[in-house]
Amino acid sequence: MTADVLQTGVGMTSLRTRERLIQRLAEAGIRDPAVLEAMRKVPRHLFVDEALASRAYEDSALPIGHGQTISQPYTVARMTEALLARGRPDTVLEIGTGSGFQTAVLASLVRRVYSVERVAALLAEAQLRLQTLKLRNVRLRHCDGGLGWPEYAPFGAILVTAAPEGIPRGLVNQLVPGGAMVLPIGRGSHQVLVRVVRSGDGYEHEILEPVTFVPLLGGVA
Ligand code: SAH
Repeated sequence: MTADVLQTGVGMTSLRTRERLIQRLAEAGIRDPAVLEAMRKVPRHLFVDEALASRAYEDSALPIGHGQTISQPYTVARMTEALLARGRPDTVLEIGTGSGFQTAVLASLVRRVYSVERVAALLAEAQLRLQTLKLRNVRLRHCDGGLGWPEYAPFGAILVTAAPEGIPRGLVNQLVPGGAMVLPIGRGSHQVLVRVVRSGDGYEHEILEPVTFVPLLGGVA
C-alpha cells in the first residue's frame, strides 16, 4: 500500500466513513470548525490494531492493549474544544499519550505538544505512528505524568486523558496564569470532565459533563 492509501484508507476506513463520523460529532454538539477539521484529518484507523481498523470510525473507545483504551472520538473532540475555547495556547502538555491519537489531533492545532505516558510499550507504538504521519512538533516522554514535565513548564494548556481522584495541584502549577487544564476526575463510574483555569494564586474550575476514563496511575510500567 502506498502512504496515501494508508492514510486515506479504503472500505470501512474510507473518506466517506470518516465523513460520517465528523457529521456525527457536529450533531453531538462539537462546534469549533478547527477541531472538526483536525478530527477529519487524523487517520484514527492507524492508531488501533489492524484487527480493529474497521471500527476506527465508530464513535466508541477501543482497546489498545495493556488494559488501556483509545478514547471515544466524541470525547477527544469535546476535550480539545474545551481546551481551546479560551484562545489557542502555544504549547500543550498531554498526560497519557496512549495510542497517540489525541496527541496527533492537538499537534495539528497548536505549535508544540508535549505528551507523557507511563507504559513504555504504548509510548513506543505512539511514537512510530506520529513519525509515520510526520508530526514533528511533538515531544514524548516515558514518565509518571502526575508530576507533569517541569523542564518545559509552564504550558499554555494541559490535557489529562486518565482520571485522578481530584484536581492535581502540581499540574495546575505548571500552567501559565489564565491557562486551562481539562481533565476527568473521580472514581469508577462517578467521573466528571472538568476545566480548571489558573488564576493569580489559585484556580477556578467548572464541571462540563459526566465521562468514563481509565484511572491515572502512579509510577511507570
Ligand atoms: N489519549 C489517549 C488515551 C489513552 S487512555 C488515546 O486516545 O489513545 C489513558 C492513558 O493514560 C493510558 O495509556 C495510560 O497508560 C496513561 N496513564 C495513566 N496514568 C498515567 C500517568 N500517571 N502518567 C502518564 N500516563 C498515564
